[in-house]
Amino acid sequence: MGKRTIEKFKPSILIVDDVSANRFALRQLLKSIDADLIEASSGEEALVKAIGLNNLALILLDVQMPIMDGYETAELLREEEQTLHIPIIFVTAVHRDEQHILKGYSSGAIDYITKPIQPSILAAKISLFMELWRLRFGLEREIFNRNKLEDKNKFLADHDMLTSLPNRRRLFLEIERAASRSDRDKSEFALLFIDLDGFKSVNDTLGHKIGDAVLIEIANRFSELVRKTDTVARFGGDEFVILLTDISDSQFLISRITEILDIARKPIFIENEEISLSVSVGVCIYPDQIDDADKLVDYADIAMYKSKELGKNTFSFFSNDMDQAAHRRLSVEKQLRHARKKNEFSVHYQPVVNCNTGQPIGVEALLRWTNSELGSIPPDYFIPIAESSGLIHELGAWVFEQSIETITEINKRLPMTLKVAVNASTLQFKNSLWFKTIEKAIKTKKIAPEDIEIEITEGLLLEDSSEINNQLSAIRALGISLSVDDFGTGYSALSYLKRCPINTVKIDRSFVKGIPEDREDMVLIHAIIAMAHGLGLVVIAEGIETQEQWDFLKSEDCDFAQGYFFSKPLPAQELETWLDKSLVASG
Ligand code: C2E
Ligand code: CA
Ligand code: CA
Repeated sequence: MGKRTIEKFKPSILIVDDVSANRFALRQLLKSIDADLIEASSGEEALVKAIGLNNLALILLDVQMPIMDGYETAELLREEEQTLHIPIIFVTAVHRDEQHILKGYSSGAIDYITKPIQPSILAAKISLFMELWRLRFGLEREIFNRNKLEDKNKFLADHDMLTSLPNRRRLFLEIERAASRSDRDKSEFALLFIDLDGFKSVNDTLGHKIGDAVLIEIANRFSELVRKTDTVARFGGDEFVILLTDISDSQFLISRITEILDIARKPIFIENEEISLSVSVGVCIYPDQIDDADKLVDYADIAMYKSKELGKNTFSFFSNDMDQAAHRRLSVEKQLRHARKKNEFSVHYQPVVNCNTGQPIGVEALLRWTNSELGSIPPDYFIPIAESSGLIHELGAWVFEQSIETITEINKRLPMTLKVAVNASTLQFKNSLWFKTIEKAIKTKKIAPEDIEIEITEGLLLEDSSEINNQLSAIRALGISLSVDDFGTGYSALSYLKRCPINTVKIDRSFVKGIPEDREDMVLIHAIIAMAHGLGLVVIAEGIETQEQWDFLKSEDCDFAQGYFFSKPLPAQELETWLDKSLVASG
């Protein structure tokens, strides 16, 4: 059965007769029948019309016509695929003999009616044909619809509803196909794992409708960019995968990847919004880098993360050390989720001393993690993982509470009061838990607000969002002081410090390390201290390891200092011992 589109439900009957009066008479006869009546005055016209009609249910064909008679017309109709099955009834006033009737049947007629026609018999016969036609038509339509539904189901099974791109299921089939093709041809192909940068904020701020429209737009752009032999798939969420075949020329491959980055960066206009995005891309080459097709996506995904780390809007090729790093990262993240319950965290405290007196004035709280399987893991390694997995909120609150409690206890036994400085991730300022935790500690009067300092990063100041500035002001309003950690390593300009409610800057360890050999570092330290004092800020120098460093900082009028020279970060008990000793020593 051909895939004719079936638009009309009403059948038509073609009346073929060279004499218009005969056509008129037949038309009158068929008035009561629910069908479109179409006329043709010759065999040729009949052929043209019959082929053009897709709801043709019956042909009433005059036998005797000039040029092409009814028999000939019927034979030609039988030769056309479109008209092959359409029933023909011969109508004749002349050839009533058996021979002609037989000839009629053999040329494809299903009936042979001789004039004078008995109207009721003809009408009944034709009604019957109409009924047959409707049955057949209905069946045909049902099959057509069923096929359409099947096609649609098939499409949905391996395509993404939103973008109509191949989905994850289909992608893996395509990868398999591409892999066996390249095994056969000894060719290579590239798998690009693409993640939209900043898509979440589009969704959060502009809503899902616009978010969806953005995904569709990006999908269309990618589809238009690649060649027929390439595959663009939606992997899920804001992740896409592109398979690029024919990549023998690496320079050409890179230019194609660059095109993808460029096209994603072009502004998207939706509902009066101009949206600018970028993509981070991870690339893995089969079989050059990985000859296991099943793992291609995972490895390209790992490489994509590298692009994110590099600052997004870029691409990275997979490498083997990435794999190891990714595996370690995964197991760390897994362990990290259970570490709180397993009591694997602790806080160490590093003393901060006064540069004039050498007396301890406070401590910095530093988180420690010792895992049963992985051993002791440095915070520089696990804090970013806690951040990306969202665990930092709970963890940050825990460090804060733990430190306040410990230092409050220690302070009770001391002749003076130690300040406690707690580190905070930028992310914590984007979650209400952080401020609530701080507020609670102040409200329960466990500790005086002036004895708490919160260390933030330069990056937080650079974000310059009103939400963050409000939080910082609210913390300052509680009476708590704020310090900028690792000062000098980021981009903090003077202007930021002036605008933000900051009390203290902590000069990064890397500058202190250069003392006394590195003149440049020493000039920088001099400048930072002068500038900070000019702004009315207190200065703490980190990472003092030697007497010379300590002497230099004292001579530069630095306010406070911290480093192994005085003490490493210590567990609470050891801190108490250290404090006892140092307080005795200084009398
Ligand atoms: P940071 O805030 O700059 O902390 C100072 C780091 O320098 C600490 O490393 C400390 O042990 C180390 N340090 C102190 N004095 C010296 C010295 O004289 N020489 C040398 N070489 N190093 C010294 P740590 O404890 O490994 O912490 C690393 C980083 O992890 C911290 O850098 C901080 O950014 C982060 N971190 C630690 N605890 C927390 C926390 O509770 N929350 C957050 N968000 N971050 C934390
Ligand atoms: Ca710090
Ligand atoms: Ca620091």
